[in-house]
Amino acid sequence: MSGFETVIGLEVHIELQTESKMFCSCPNRFGDPANTNICPVCLGLPGALPRPNAAGIDAAIRMALALGCQVAKRSKFDRKNYFYPDLPKGYQISQLDEPIGADGRVEVPGGGTVRVLRVQLEEDAGKLQHESHGAVVDFNRAGVPLLEIVSAPDLRSPQEARAYWEEIRRIALALGISDARMEEGSVRADANISLRPVGAEELNPRVEIKNMNSFRFLERALAYEAERQAEVYRQGGRVDQETRGWDDPRGVTFSQRSKEEAEDYRYFPEPDLLPFAIDPSHVAELRQSLPELPGDRRQRLARLGLAEEQVRLIAESSARTAYFDGAMAAGADVDSVAKWICGDLARYENDGRFDFAHPAFPAAELGALVQSVAQGELTGPAAKKVLSLLAERGGTVADAVRQLGLGRIDDLDAVRAEVRAVLSLEQKAVADLRAGKKQAMGFLVGQVMRRTRGRVAPDVASRLIVEEVGE
Ligand code: ZN
Ligand code: MN
Repeated sequence: MSGFETVIGLEVHIELQTESKMFCSCPNRFGDPANTNICPVCLGLPGALPRPNAAGIDAAIRMALALGCQVAKRSKFDRKNYFYPDLPKGYQISQLDEPIGADGRVEVPGGGTVRVLRVQLEEDAGKLQHESHGAVVDFNRAGVPLLEIVSAPDLRSPQEARAYWEEIRRIALALGISDARMEEGSVRADANISLRPVGAEELNPRVEIKNMNSFRFLERALAYEAERQAEVYRQGGRVDQETRGWDDPRGVTFSQRSKEEAEDYRYFPEPDLLPFAIDPSHVAELRQSLPELPGDRRQRLARLGLAEEQVRLIAESSARTAYFDGAMAAGADVDSVAKWICGDLARYENDGRFDFAHPAFPAAELGALVQSVAQGELTGPAAKKVLSLLAERGGTVADAVRQLGLGRIDDLDAVRAEVRAVLSLEQKAVADLRAGKKQAMGFLVGQVMRRTRGRVAPDVASRLIVEEVGE
């Protein structure tokens, strides 16, 4: 893309995880049989009146605060009118000029600072399903509270756009306001992208790619679109403002709607809902309740001296960070805890054998395991076996050690018997040791460890070898 700067803005939509929908008391639940969680309000039947869900408003305020936004003292809902089969009312209740939050910013990991123009609260539409005999619609999703987070056009590459979106999702998860399940469409994004000559101030017409539900699709679609626009400009052509879709199997964007047909949403204040005040003291309370946010988590872990990759992996989720903190609180050493979490436990998590959010054994036991290794009570390989058993059955390190017969052999006569057995088998190493070859000692200690499955303290083994060899 030499000669051009890529300019991207993102609108991220996040479904909120509330008990009920935004303007009625229908359950807000994914996966129920189609059209079971519906009522006159979310179907927009004549005479039905919406009532705002306070939990939805609080979630929006908390997100606004987490993004460093100004929270409005007064806000209101507006009607956005358009016709589409998944929209039962013929309009969406949204926010036009008095959104709940404005003027925030996000530090993008590995990227720059991106301004957040607004955080607004609205309702989701139903869901169209295309079947062999035609399209059907499920209105269970209609009226589900939806946050829209609009960035300024501050993103400069498809990678940065993806990293920004991932960070927004991480923040929503940290706040606990959404389950943020990509595969269920809980988080979607619309992207605007245009190109301009490097150094230019003015923005060129932009292309909008709507309703992406995968980080990978977003990155691929933007990369394709940047290349396509660059080629149009190189040929001396003009990029039209339009909406384009992403065809992932073919790896191309395709024109959907041009500017000439751009819709006019005929926004007007929602007549069935009064503007509402947001009490600053309530906002202050919500600010107090904010958890440690992903950016702060990463900074804190980096200050402990963890490697970048470890920081990234542990800070990725609140549950992993809490588990790390729990093991540390048990007095374990930071490097070892990070290694176990990013190594064996992360692998177990991948295999579905361990869940940091609902761990089979408490973090304090990981701390105990690390300490057992540090104090020479368990060797590394023995500790791995213990961890595997804990992940499988829970319990304590002490129980697992006993069950696996991995406890250290403390009886000196028993250790001496093992040492003698090794020495009689390894005559050459014994001769090397007598001849002053130091590495022979390491080998012999290793053989004792192997024979006893790591149940002997290495310093005890080497002391007994010296005694037996008679040096
Ligand atoms: Zn309803
Ligand atoms: Mn929206």
